[in-house]
Formats: sequence, structure tokens, C-alpha cells
Amino acid sequence: MAMSSHTVPPLKDKSLFKENVAFVNGKWVKAKSGKTFEVHDPASMKLIGTVPEMEQTDVNEAIDHASAAFKDFRNTLARDRARMLRRWYDLMMENKEDLATLITWENGKPTADALAEVNYAAGFLEWFSEEAPRIYGDNIPPSVAGNRMVTVKQPVGVCALITPWNFPAAMVTRKIGPALAAGCTVVAKAPGETPFTSLALGELAQRAGIPPGVVNFVTALDHTPAIGTLLCEHPSIKKLSFTGSTNVGKLLMKQSSSTLKKLSFELGGNAPLIVFDDADLDVAVAGAIASKFRTSGQTCVCANRIYVQSGIYDQFAQKFAEKVKSGFKTGSGYTEGVTHGPLIHSRAVAKVEHHIQDAIAKGGKVILGGQRIPDLGENYHQLTIITGVTGEMAIAGEETFGPVAGLIKFETEEEVIKAANTADVGLAGYFFSNDARRVWRVAEALEVGMVGINTGVISDVAAPFGGVKWSGFGREGSKYGVDEYVAIKTMTFGGV
Ligand code: NAD
Repeated sequence: MAMSSHTVPPLKDKSLFKENVAFVNGKWVKAKSGKTFEVHDPASMKLIGTVPEMEQTDVNEAIDHASAAFKDFRNTLARDRARMLRRWYDLMMENKEDLATLITWENGKPTADALAEVNYAAGFLEWFSEEAPRIYGDNIPPSVAGNRMVTVKQPVGVCALITPWNFPAAMVTRKIGPALAAGCTVVAKAPGETPFTSLALGELAQRAGIPPGVVNFVTALDHTPAIGTLLCEHPSIKKLSFTGSTNVGKLLMKQSSSTLKKLSFELGGNAPLIVFDDADLDVAVAGAIASKFRTSGQTCVCANRIYVQSGIYDQFAQKFAEKVKSGFKTGSGYTEGVTHGPLIHSRAVAKVEHHIQDAIAKGGKVILGGQRIPDLGENYHQLTIITGVTGEMAIAGEETFGPVAGLIKFETEEEVIKAANTADVGLAGYFFSNDARRVWRVAEALEVGMVGINTGVISDVAAPFGGVKWSGFGREGSKYGVDEYVAIKTMTFGGV
């Protein structure tokens, strides 16, 4: 198979690339078994490097170190934790080009997207450095004479963090930031496809002066399910925060029942994006492109079902296809002008192909793209638009997680709200309308955790991020993010 030329730029600071080691208790360690697994560049399929294939025994040690570190870390001053997070943020910004190079290398997203991710990821450390000194309790008027009542928020303890490959830096800083702000310590299982970004973050955490054992990164591929079981069942782990698929989320919730951990789950989406006849067409097309094709459709908040009202359907489809065709270029993420890189692996491409073939077989029409791009490499797929999509097609029923937009025609507001809400999941939703009353009605009616109105971009460190239904529970970022990592204790003083 032909491959595009693909030269990985050298890192300015080579010590950010950690091979064959994970980060435990402030040290760079190998798996006790000596085993490693390989990580491949999704653009060229070449080997990037190897990382430790850790087993339960390795992770047990990391948990022990995180437990020991918690004893002191929980008592550090909030302002000191704020300074550590701030230093870590500064170091991410100072090294943002290298971090972006690593992200593009192991994830495939173009450098500009990778740089945007580094800014977003570092933003969580900055945000929670500012939140750390503001974790206030309450002073509560008592119902009993002579009593006084206050609450304090205490760190829950050692937290297990599991994150996916699609945002190798941001998914994990969105969890570590609030955890450390609260005074918790963490054991983070790095994604098997993209561990090197996590390890570089470990190096920067150490340089930021975060004490040994407070942040630990463990790595595994084949032993991931066993490590998942351990993290769920270990009594010292008091909290599990997971971002990933709904199926794995359900498994982890079941496994965590024996220890009744505090849980937060950011799971899969199947976002509806609705274009009403009264929408501004250009705004709707720009919003649909931003929401559908960002990171080649591999974000959990990507539009997955695009409902367009019949009066504007043909016009929208034509303009959408024109803009996508003329505005974007697929190729190696390091190539100037490339806007879309490869998908993460061949399974992802196979799912995209299945959704396209299923749609065609059921009457859908491909008006743009529809093919792999073998000349670039085995993980590349064209940006694709299909019209005539119906609710019976796989593309409407499940998350595609790839660059395929299916356009579904609808007639009435009532009908489209009902269709949008049929999904089991409810993470993000979007709609485009210029009718003020409709804007309120639809925003309130959509069963999702986040809704974009006349915009396709909703992620902001300052805004609560999370879903309803099978998209999980808990909120990340924002002033609510820390709540996931604290326990409220009520203190009642009698006989005052
Ligand atoms: P995944 O669930 O397969 O994997 C996610 C993480 O869980 C990885 O680190 C993986 O190694 C780990 N994992 C897998 N099986 C495990 C087990 N048995 N025990 C412990 N850990 C296990 O998901 P994926 O396909 O890698 O990622 C894409 C999914 O993540 C999509 O469904 C997407 O919507 C979702 N996602 C959600 C959000 C959100 O904020 N809601 C953000 C990004 C991605």
C-alpha cells in the first residue's frame, strides 16, 4: 500500500519522550515482568516506541504509593496546590510545540488541532489552580437551639482515572486538575494507543514540583481489563473517573459496586444537530462542519445525526458539500495545509465503511467522499456526506466516530425533538434557528447534557462538561469539576 511521505519533526526537548517506562512515585519504572507493548503512528503505521505492559502487581504498587502520598498531600495548603498546578500549566505552555508533536504522532490529528488541544488541556490545570483556594464549605443556620453547623469539603482520597486516545492530553488534565485542586492523589491508566502524551505530562508534573506519588501514570494494553478490575475493586481507590465508551462504562460501574466508589462517567454520544428552516444557512453549515468533522469526527460531542427541515434540506446539503469539498485537505498531520489526519486505527475505518455501506443499502446517497484513501495509508478515509438517511440506518443509531455526515429530512419541530430524543445516550446536541421562542423550547426539550445553539463548538474549560442517560454522569471543568473529587462533611457543634 502506498504511503504519503511523513516526517516526524524532532522534539526540541527529547527528554519528553519516555520509552519503556511508566511514571510511578516520581520514578520512571518498567513493568516487573519486563514486558512491553508497541505503539504505532496511525499515519504511517510505523513503530513509535514501546511502553511497559503493566500487570495488577505493578498497578498495586502505584496505588500503594498514591495512598502513602495522600496522607501528606491532603494536608497541603490549597494555595500551594494552586501554585503546583499553575507551574504545571506554565510548563505545558512552554513545551506546547513538543506536546503537539507527540499528540500528532500517536493520535494523527493535524498539528493545529494538536496545539489547540494542548491549550485546552493546559487550560484545565490553569482553571483548577484558580479553583483550588476557593473550595468553600457552608455555615448553616441550625434547626436546634444551641447548635452550630458548618460543612467542609474534604478530598475523597486516591482516584483512578481512565481516559481515551481521542484527546490524549485534555481528557486526563480535565480529571487531574480538579483532583489535585481538591487534595487527592491519582493513578491514571494511559490510553494504549496514545500513552506517550501522558508520560510527557508526567515528566512536566515532576518538573512542576508535584510531590512523588501524587500523580502516577501506568500503561497497559492486553492487561487493561485486569487493571480495570483492580482499580474498581481496590479498597484504597475511593473514586473512579472514566472517559470512554458506554459499554466499558457499564462494566466498570458493575465492577465498582463491591467497593461503592464515587464514580463519574463521561461516555459515548450520538449528538443530534438540527437545522430548522428559519436558520441562517451559512451559520448552520459552518456549525455542522465544526461539530461533525473536527478531529475527523472522532470526538464524543461530534454531530452524529444531522436533521434538516424539508424547506432548507436541498440547499443545506448542497452548500455543506461545497464547503467540505473546497475547504479541507486530508493527509499527514504534519503537512502544512492539512486539516484532517488519519483515523486512529483500521477498526475505526472499518466502522466508517460499515456505516456508509449500510446507509447505501437502505437507500442513502453518497454526495461527497465515501471511500478510503489508500494512497495516503490504510487509516485514511475521505470526508463523506450522505443524503436520504433514515432512523433505521446504523449511522443514525450508533456513534460513527468518523468523518461521515448523514443528513435526515424532517418536517416538524415536534417530530424532530422526538427523533433526537430516541437515543439511549445524551451528551451533546446542537440546533440552528433564529426564532427566539423556538430556541428556548428546543434547548429545554433536548435530552442532552450540553446544547449548542447556533454554534457547533461547545467545549470550554469554564463550562460544565458531561451528559445524561447512557452518556454518563458527573461534570468536568467549570466550578462544578471539583465536586467530583470531594466529600462534604457536616460538623454539628452542640451546647453552644
Ligand atoms: P474505550 O471505552 O474502549 O476505552 C477508553 C479507555 O478505557 C481506554 O484507556 C481503554 O484502554 C480503557 N479500557 C477499555 N476497556 C477497559 C476495561 N475493561 N477496564 C479498564 N479500562 C478499560 O473507548 P475508546 O473507543 O478508546 O474511546 C472512544 C469512546 O470514548 C467513544 O465512545 C467516545 O464517545 C468516548 N468519549 C467520551 C468523552 C466524554 O467526555 N463523554 C470524551 C472522549 C471520548
